[in-house]
Amino acid sequence: MEKNITIIKGDGIGPEIVDEAIKVLQAIAKKYNHTFTYTEVLMGGASIDAHGVPITQETIDIAKSSDSVLLGSIGGDTNTSPWYQLEPKLRPEAGLLTIRKELGLFANLRPAYLYNELKEACPLKPEIIEGGFDMMVVRELTGGIYFGARETKEIDGQLVATDSLAYSETEIKRIVKKAFEIAMKRKKQLISVDKANVLDSSRLWRKIVNELASDYPEVTVEHMLVDNCAMQLVRDPKQFDVIVTENMFGDILSDEASMITGSIGMLSSASLRDDSFGMYEPSHGSAPDIAGTNKANPIATILSMALMLRYSFGLSKEALEVEQAIEKVLQQGYRTVDILSKDKTLVGTKEMGDLIVANL
Ligand code: NAD
Repeated sequence: MEKNITIIKGDGIGPEIVDEAIKVLQAIAKKYNHTFTYTEVLMGGASIDAHGVPITQETIDIAKSSDSVLLGSIGGDTNTSPWYQLEPKLRPEAGLLTIRKELGLFANLRPAYLYNELKEACPLKPEIIEGGFDMMVVRELTGGIYFGARETKEIDGQLVATDSLAYSETEIKRIVKKAFEIAMKRKKQLISVDKANVLDSSRLWRKIVNELASDYPEVTVEHMLVDNCAMQLVRDPKQFDVIVTENMFGDILSDEASMITGSIGMLSSASLRDDSFGMYEPSHGSAPDIAGTNKANPIATILSMALMLRYSFGLSKEALEVEQAIEKVLQQGYRTVDILSKDKTLVGTKEMGDLIVANL
C-alpha cells in the first residue's frame, strides 16, 4: 500500500513524540511492505514564528491533498509565551480550529482503554475496574451548541445570554452512521447518549439512531440520558463499547472517560469525515514544561498513528500489532515518567519508541 501523510509536528513536545510515531510507522511499513511518504508542514506556534500566522493556505492545501494528517500538538505556555499576546485569531489554537473546519472533520473519536499494567493510575476502586474497560467515544465535532447562534442582551434591566443548539438530519445521520461503522469493527454495541426527555434536538437524534439501526442489525443499540451516562462511566465503565453523542455532551463525556484511564500520555484521538481521510493526534497538549527533555510519553501519538492505520488505511492487522507492542512494553515494566510507578524501569521518549519497535 502507498499513502501520503501530512506531518504537523507542532510545538513543545510535538516534534519529539511525532518522530517516535514515524519511527514505529516506518517499522510497520518495512515489515508489511507498505510505502508511506511524509510531507512536513507547519501549524500553531511554529507557523506563527515562520509566517506570522498559525496556519497558511499552503498547509491546508497540502493536508487536503494527502491521505491523512498526523499531528503532534500545538501551543505554548499560555502565561509566558509571546504567542498569547497576539489577538485570538492569530494564536496557535486558531490553526487547529481552521484545519478541522477546512478538512470537514465532523467526527471525533476518543478511545478510553484501561491497560492492565496501569491500573494503579485509575482513580476508580479496584472492584469497579476489575476486568478493565475499553470504550470509544464518538463525538459530533462541527455542529450543536458550540456553533449555534449566540447573543447577550439586556432585557428588563438585566443581561440575558442565549446559546442555541441546532442539529440537522444530515448532521446527525453522518455522525451516527460513522458510529455504527466503528461499532461494527468493535464489539458491536452502540450507546447513543442524549437528553431526549428535554431537548428537541435529542428527540430528532434518537429518531435517526433508531432509523439507522435497521441498516446494522448486528449492532445492539441502547439510548442513555446524558446525566445517567456521566454516572455510569464511573459506576461501571466496562458496560460501554461505542458511545455516540452530540458536540457538547461528547466534549464533557470524553474528558470524563479519559480521566478514568488515569494517564494523559496514553490517550489517542482521531477526527474523521465521510471518506477515509482523518487527522490523528494525541489527546494531550504540547506540554511546554517538559519540551526538549526526552521525557514526553510518545504512546498517545503512536496509538493515534495506529488509529490512522485502522480507520484511514484499513490496516487493522498492522494497527493491532502496534497496540499489542505497546502492551508488551508495558508488561516488560518500561515506563516514561508520567506513568512511572514503584519497581518499574524509567525510559525516555526515544527509548520508549525503540522498545515499541523492538516488540513489533
Ligand atoms: P498539556 O496536556 O500540554 O500538559 C498537562 C500536563 O500533562 C503537563 O504537566 C505535561 O507535562 C503533562 N503531559 C502532557 N502530555 C504528556 C506526555 N505525552 N508525556 C508526559 N507528560 C505529559 O496541557 P496544558 O499544559 O494545559 O497545555 C499546554 C499547551 O498545549 C497549551 O498551549 C494548550 O493550549 C495546548 N493544547 C494543545 C492541544 C492540541 O494541540 N490539540 C490540546 C490541549 C492543549
